[in-house]
Amino acid sequence: MKRIWIAGPCAADSREQVITTAAQLAKEAQERGLELDYFRAGVWKMRSAPDGFTGAGAEALPWLQEVQKTFHIPVCIEVLNAEQVELCAKYDIYTVWIGARTCVNPIEVQHLADAVRHSGFTVLVKNPIIPDLKLWTGNLNRFLQADIRNVMAVHRGFTDARENVYRNAPVWQIPIELKVQMPEMPILCDPSHLCGNTLWIPEIAQLAMTYGFDGLMVECHCQPEQALSDKEQQLTPPVWADMIAKLDLRSGSTDLALVRQRSILESIDNQISELLYQRMTVVDEIGNIKRQQHIAVVQPHQWQEVVQRYMKHTEDAAYQTFIEQFLELLHQSSINRQK
Ligand code: PEP
Ligand code: MN
Repeated sequence: MKRIWIAGPCAADSREQVITTAAQLAKEAQERGLELDYFRAGVWKMRSAPDGFTGAGAEALPWLQEVQKTFHIPVCIEVLNAEQVELCAKYDIYTVWIGARTCVNPIEVQHLADAVRHSGFTVLVKNPIIPDLKLWTGNLNRFLQADIRNVMAVHRGFTDARENVYRNAPVWQIPIELKVQMPEMPILCDPSHLCGNTLWIPEIAQLAMTYGFDGLMVECHCQPEQALSDKEQQLTPPVWADMIAKLDLRSGSTDLALVRQRSILESIDNQISELLYQRMTVVDEIGNIKRQQHIAVVQPHQWQEVVQRYMKHTEDAAYQTFIEQFLELLHQSSINRQK
């Protein structure tokens, strides 16, 4: 299976940055025998903070047209409304993506589907920021029903206060359930917005490949530290090429039942590791308060209540023995920290 590689900056910051990044990506891809399928760049950026960089706007479209002409790489950009779709066509850009924030609003998505109806546009549909599979599949179906041939889903993680190692929680079961429900739909992963920093991107990219995803959309910038948005999560073109070249693409499992259960386990393990880490920081804080107030570290009745809470889930004796041992270890290590 040929994977789809999309790379490029979060935003088109300037003509020079766009052309330099595209030139570096083209060179790196060629040297490694990779095909860069699309060059991405945001032109109109929807930002959380009111003073965030909102993109260069239509001024950037000729820069992207130049990328297509010079490097023969199709460009894709995010569109927020019908007017922007029209501007894309004016500058020969026929691949667009619908951002995660837009995707929470079916009315906006329907307007966009109507704007591209019966056209040759390729449309990438990000998951909505909330973990709602129906909303995601509904949005994809809006484009299929508008007679768009090339529609792809992009998994970029979900807003979730619980799993905060990542900027957006992967909740892998959702994209995997999408694969079960829409087996013909190509699905890419955007590890950049999922991770929020460059540290975890290769690991998440590999996991997506292992789960059988069809490709990756990765943010790349010629000088990430100078980027006007998302500077923490952009790779340089050589780092991108190195990562793609090192991916193990053979390991993709086709057994969806197994992939599905593995993805649930992965998500649970993420949450356990997060929670244990959070628990440790809270234990340290409580230790400080106890010290200031001269309160004893060990308070047996409180701990008994905690143990009972864990026990009430099941009568399974083997599980209860395991929980007892696990909680004993947890309790002892908290006492040691507080002491
Ligand atoms: C983006 O890809 O530039 C972007 C803003 O992504 P998302 O909509 O997934 O946050
Ligand atoms: Mn971005």
